[in-house]
Amino acid sequence: KPAIVLFRYDLRLADNRALHAASESGKPVIPVFVWDEQTSPHARPLGGARKWWLHHSLNALSATMKARGATLVLKRGKTEAIVDGLIDETGADLVLWNRRYDPQGVEVDTGLKAELARRNVMAESFEGHLLHEPYALRTASGGYYRVYTPFWRALAGQPEPRDPVAAPIGLKSWHGEIASETLDDWNLLPKHPDWSKGFTDWTPGEEAAHQRLADFLDGAIGHYSRERDRPDIEATSRLSPHLVHGEITPVQIWHALKAPKLRDHGADVAKFRREMAWREFCYHLLFHNPALHTENFNASFNAFHWNDRQDHFDAWKQGKTGYPIVDAGMRQLWQTGWMHNRVRMIVASFLIKHLLIDWRKGEEWFWDTLVDADPANNAAGWQWVAGTGADAAPYFRIFNPILQGEKFDPKGDYVRTFVPELAALPGKYLNQPWTAPQRVLDDAGIMLGETYPHPIVDHRSARRRALGAYAETR
Ligand code: FAD
Repeated sequence: KPAIVLFRYDLRLADNRALHAASESGKPVIPVFVWDEQTSPHARPLGGARKWWLHHSLNALSATMKARGATLVLKRGKTEAIVDGLIDETGADLVLWNRRYDPQGVEVDTGLKAELARRNVMAESFEGHLLHEPYALRTASGGYYRVYTPFWRALAGQPEPRDPVAAPIGLKSWHGEIASETLDDWNLLPKHPDWSKGFTDWTPGEEAAHQRLADFLDGAIGHYSRERDRPDIEATSRLSPHLVHGEITPVQIWHALKAPKLRDHGADVAKFRREMAWREFCYHLLFHNPALHTENFNASFNAFHWNDRQDHFDAWKQGKTGYPIVDAGMRQLWQTGWMHNRVRMIVASFLIKHLLIDWRKGEEWFWDTLVDADPANNAAGWQWVAGTGADAAPYFRIFNPILQGEKFDPKGDYVRTFVPELAALPGKYLNQPWTAPQRVLDDAGIMLGETYPHPIVDHRSARRRALGAYAETR
């Protein structure tokens, strides 16, 4: 009798404990990707950028699977019904999967386990998306952590994560025919016009994820702690979309960081581990707060009066706020499906504090446009910036977009790349073009209000307005 292995956002063969266990069982294996947005009425549909990624990642997974003698079955619908149908069709008596931690995923998988028990079919689930299960770490009083530093201390005090498991060398495949949908049926890619333009910076899939890790460990990690805040330099790993789709696991990364060649980069490796631990912390928060992307963690913000100016929201989305670092970030997001972490903080702060627009609207835009849109990191990131979250930035910390641009993009390369209409502007004016003398603007071919917008709000008055609004709520 065969074993069914469910794939969701764990699109890999190596360090896939469910697949490994199925292969070790000696049974024929039926690998099935289940796109189960329809399962729960609360499920959050994937955004456009992640659908693009999913299409290519599933193609890559199918190909590697085929090379090992197995066929990936694609199914869309309610998980329980799909699994029931497959059991009826094949007589499978074992179903395996890797656990997920978003509230809908937990709900669906708990229901599935109960249904399989009812049918007397064996079910086994495994960890792998995180270094430690989000419920494993507890404060001294038995609660969960709301502050990062003690969470990190608890995490760092845990035993080393287990060793990764290897990809099965060959898979004993099921002899029967199983009806599979096709990627063409799913229409995951953008229609014409193709806004993704192929997202040429990215190669989805497990092999590319490991190549990216190898490149990072050969290069940028050597100056990670010094340069990770610089959007003009490729100083971070860009592993986030690979992690979100489970093409690589944090356990694999954790162990790769022990390579002898990194011995001289102890501080950089330590810093990188601490950033990876933020991801763990976000999942810990999400697990204990299923409404993290819809409800203020700090309920005192429920009375906050948000502004609903659509023209401001549109200007922000389109990268036309008149603040070059904000606009560069928003255009990087649209053009590449990704944005540098420092700039995510700057644009989020701008939306929430300068424009007083509800953080949930920004979170939704990111959800739709990021290839790494993550149920935990995105929601927690937005709440952190808004000051509404656990361990949040204080409400009075309002990034000055001019100073942030000057500090973190000191030569202006980042702004010049994504806001090319400002490319010829001297550095001194690059983050505040409205202060440039007319002669300088003329020389640079810029007509403010025509080729590049005037600032949609004045920094100082927006700051005063935000402080006033926050003080009122408190
Ligand atoms: P690296 O610096 O190379 O870090 C390695 C990995 O550690 C990342 O891939 C990520 O998994 C994790 N990590 C690093 N920083 C953070 C952090 N601050 N919070 C959580 N995990 C972190 N990250 C997402 O993966 N998905 C999101 O949807 C997302 N939305 C965000 C929204 C806002 C408003 C903010 C401020 C941050 C958000 N982040 C999100 C966190 C962070 O910006 C990205 O993880 C990071 O930029 C990814 O680039 P990288 O892989 O090169 O990071």
